[in-house]
Amino acid sequence: MINYICTICGMIINDKNFDFNKEVLPYENSIDNIKYCPFCGADSTFIKKVDQGEGAEIKLTAENMDNATSVIIDHAMKLEVFNGDFYKKASKLAKNDEIKIMFQCLSNIEYMHARIHKSIGGFKELPVLREMDYCKYGEDAMLMDLANKREKHAVEYYDRYAEEVCSHKIKEIFNALSRVEKGHMDLTLKK
Ligand SMILES: [Zn+2]
Repeated sequence: MINYICTICGMIINDKNFDFNKEVLPYENSIDNIKYCPFCGADSTFIKKVDQGEGAEIKLTAENMDNATSVIIDHAMKLEVFNGDFYKKASKLAKNDEIKIMFQCLSNIEYMHARIHKSIGGFKELPVLREMDYCKYGEDAMLMDLANKREKHAVEYYDRYAEEVCSHKIKEIFNALSRVEKGHMDLTLKK
């Protein structure tokens, strides 16, 4: 059997998980045609075939990381945890079932992005951020609007710092994640 590996998040994609988070991917995957990583949302240019038992492994740790890059990765990790936390709460607050599911999927994907940064930055744990209260965003449209602003901020962050990080691999990851967050901007505009 053929599996796939995502070279951005390092996850193995197989017949049990290829349709995870399908509600927020631009196209639905089939097992023979993986268009987007179901875990981090990276597009098919980053997805490679692997034969089972081949022992596929993607090393995410950047070598010779300089201090400035370490700080950039740390901030990116916090940004993604912040957004993951937001979507988790927003999925509980939202009234429309479709939006609830969308927020839950976006939460999963943003936490995966945070784990990518944890891994490349060599950090021990994901940060626990201060609890935020989003109850004043009492309507789905307000949550969507806030989500869209968060995504825009993430895109701007990745685009700006992709030019400043010390390794080609990290730059590639930032560019890939920027594209994912642009897709999320479209999603949170639509409804
Ligand atoms: Zn991935």
